[in-house]
Amino acid sequence: MALSALDIYKLLPKTNCKKCGSPTCLAFALRLLAKKASLEECPDVSEEARRALAQASEPPIRTLVVGPENKRVELGGEIVLFRHEKTFYHHTAIAISVSDNLSETQLKERLAKIKAIKFERVGQQLGINLVALSNESKDVRKFSQVAKTCVSETGLGIILISDNSSCLEGAVKETQPVKPIIYAAGESNLDKLLGLAQTHNLALVLKSENLEATLKISEQVIGKGYKDLILDVSAGNSSQALQNLTILRRLSIIKNFRPAGFPVICFTHAKDKNLEVLEAATYTAKYASIAVVNFIDLESHLSLLTLRQNIYTDPQKPVTVEPKLYEIGSPGKDSPLLVTTNFSLTFYTVSPEIEHSKVPAYLLIADTEGMSVLTAWAAEKFTAETIAKAMKAVNVETKLNHKKIIIPGYVAVLSGKLEDESGWQVVVGPKEASGIPKFLKQLVLV
Ligand code: SF4
Repeated sequence: MALSALDIYKLLPKTNCKKCGSPTCLAFALRLLAKKASLEECPDVSEEARRALAQASEPPIRTLVVGPENKRVELGGEIVLFRHEKTFYHHTAIAISVSDNLSETQLKERLAKIKAIKFERVGQQLGINLVALSNESKDVRKFSQVAKTCVSETGLGIILISDNSSCLEGAVKETQPVKPIIYAAGESNLDKLLGLAQTHNLALVLKSENLEATLKISEQVIGKGYKDLILDVSAGNSSQALQNLTILRRLSIIKNFRPAGFPVICFTHAKDKNLEVLEAATYTAKYASIAVVNFIDLESHLSLLTLRQNIYTDPQKPVTVEPKLYEIGSPGKDSPLLVTTNFSLTFYTVSPEIEHSKVPAYLLIADTEGMSVLTAWAAEKFTAETIAKAMKAVNVETKLNHKKIIIPGYVAVLSGKLEDESGWQVVVGPKEASGIPKFLKQLVLV
């Protein structure tokens, strides 16, 4: 478990000499905890304490970075069991399986489909993160060539899956710049694959017959000084895999059990596509760093990636858009002016409806700290004063010939006060964004 300020304080000299710039050692411990100070700032800390602090301040789950520079994937690094305790930092990477036994046409088709899985949702780009290539051909040259094609066609990182160390070695050489993941070392091939991972500084997946045996190998590898590890917790059925995932997360976060403190990978097994999507969703919710799936259709991935986006959004920091005046279409001086909040989901619900109306308009986004309309109104963040302030900040009167502003129907109650604050006439718009097109088409402003 992460250190508390008191734990850190106990390791400091406790002389309150102020050389570090903090008034007391406890104040320095608090700054260290908040990562606002470095241990180097205390000249009197003992070597022994330095070692203990460095070791103990390591996150309970190691963070690994894989993939090419422009599509890097961060894995692990989590510090809580439940999202509401703080947040989850690195979302589950979705990998799609590819066999090196596919014909050239089938391979290109599958890779093109992987590349095409892309969605923009509430301003974020969602897509597939990795290709998981299986060496079903058992052919060294073929595996290397297909690995190279996977990387060049998709631009993504790759998991190289083989039980043949020569095949892995060849494919690693072809894909080294994108930091491939080597899959998988067990009792019998540990030395060879660990050597390969160490030589190229790559992440190595550990896998054995069950979780206990995998943890034993992990302990062994830590003993040899290598820590860029990923643990495979897949099992014959999803309920056992879920149990493994939960055990590992609890062992790492609560018990600070080092052999368990690594990112985890899980493969889906269900033959039925819908069940497989459900399986992937389960692993995404708890607590896979990588979920390897076989399905490749857009609608299933939209569901999975939407779920992932919701789980891995920081609950303390709502997704926001910049508060400013947005032009939708090519609005002119007689165009309508609408106002709403800077909660991303609100913006991306309202703006397409304005676009859909085909009526060019201005959309004023007020800073409501990322709250939606009703929440912001209840929290007094979307008030007559904040709207009037937002109008002034963008000099809205210079853009228009009229002085009418459309507010969301849910906050009709703000009308009178906003008219007093701004001197503008308030028009109450529809409650739901879906009503905007009809409303704008029928609107007569002057
Ligand atoms: Fe304490 Fe070290 Fe800071 Fe002095 S320099 S107050 S000993 S933490």
